[in-house]
Amino acid sequence: MSEKQKKPVAVTRSSLPPLDEYVEMLKPLWESAWLTNMGDYHEQFKEQVKEYLGAENFELFVNGHMALELALQALELKGEVITTPFSFASTTHAIVRNGLKPVFCDINPLDYTLDVEQLEDRITDQTSAIVPVHVYGNFCDVERIEEIARRHNLKVVYDAAHAFGETLDGKGAARFGDMSMFSFHATKVFHSIEGGGVAFNDERLSRRLYELKNFGITGYESVEYVGVNGKMNEFQAAMGLCNLRHVDGEIEKRKNLARQYEKRLSGVEGIRLCKENLRVRKNYAYMPVVFDGYKRDRDWVFHELARYNIHARKYFYPCINSYACYREQFDERETPVAARISRQVLTLPLYADLDPEVVDKICDIILEE
Ligand SMILES: *Cc1c(COP(=O)(O)O)cnc(C)c1O
Repeated sequence: MSEKQKKPVAVTRSSLPPLDEYVEMLKPLWESAWLTNMGDYHEQFKEQVKEYLGAENFELFVNGHMALELALQALELKGEVITTPFSFASTTHAIVRNGLKPVFCDINPLDYTLDVEQLEDRITDQTSAIVPVHVYGNFCDVERIEEIARRHNLKVVYDAAHAFGETLDGKGAARFGDMSMFSFHATKVFHSIEGGGVAFNDERLSRRLYELKNFGITGYESVEYVGVNGKMNEFQAAMGLCNLRHVDGEIEKRKNLARQYEKRLSGVEGIRLCKENLRVRKNYAYMPVVFDGYKRDRDWVFHELARYNIHARKYFYPCINSYACYREQFDERETPVAARISRQVLTLPLYADLDPEVVDKICDIILEE
């Protein structure tokens, strides 16, 4: 069997532009000394990323979480918000930190997005919105969600943190629902070190989002909302501008590696990969593998890879509704599919510059007799 990796292989590795390219971008900042508060790079980045995503309107934020939290605040929601327990902590925290009550709906076992068959059963007269997640870049059933939301007069805010650059039938992820949040965190397919944005259809929300990320200040001598400091700075925007030039190439490299994993692992009894959706242009953000009745379980594979200095991640485990901060109020047994998948799923290393030999080695370890 192969040897232990000398350098640890992590589940992801941030992509970086050539250093010279970034340094060149910094020079004008030393001249203008304008470092944050919606500077030139902020405005350029906002325009370019909006175009790349095919968004109608777009606002930048210091990170994806703040983008989501302020998106929900901007909509002035009340009562209950239906969401998924199979996501990153941020999704539910953003709801709770707005004083709203999360209501967990289970996921479907094929692509791990909200199970739309159960969605309507979660709606009460208190429900004001749905926050679904395009988890691993798998598109939610956007048509059904839109139809249900319209019938019940609910807002839809997608957590699209994993869906940067993805399209459904050629239409960008930014175009669905009332709003979609994107994360530009260093570990994502595309990043601005930290950063995030909100795409939205109603142009009138522009101003509110802008004010909320700037302390709720609405004029020189007026503060109308309890806002925060959620502004993206110029160093982040400069990194975003650089990375945007390279992101297509990065996605192409990820695609080749994902195909390599698929060739080795698809069709193996007890191993499940995400079902390919031919309507979607994917970004290959993650490589989730579900071990369901395989000769080895998820935790065995996790530890075995670690012995070779290869560090996969249990994304997403545990489910949000069993976190210490939520388990007094919720029970993951109410979402049995999410609870089960969270114990079976392992996200394998995938990033643009991952050595294809390492992919082969990971597959050898998983498949070893
Ligand atoms: C990364 C992520 C976020 C939060 O984004 P940050 O930019 O890290 O604040 C929210 N939701 C999901 C699903 C994520 O993966």
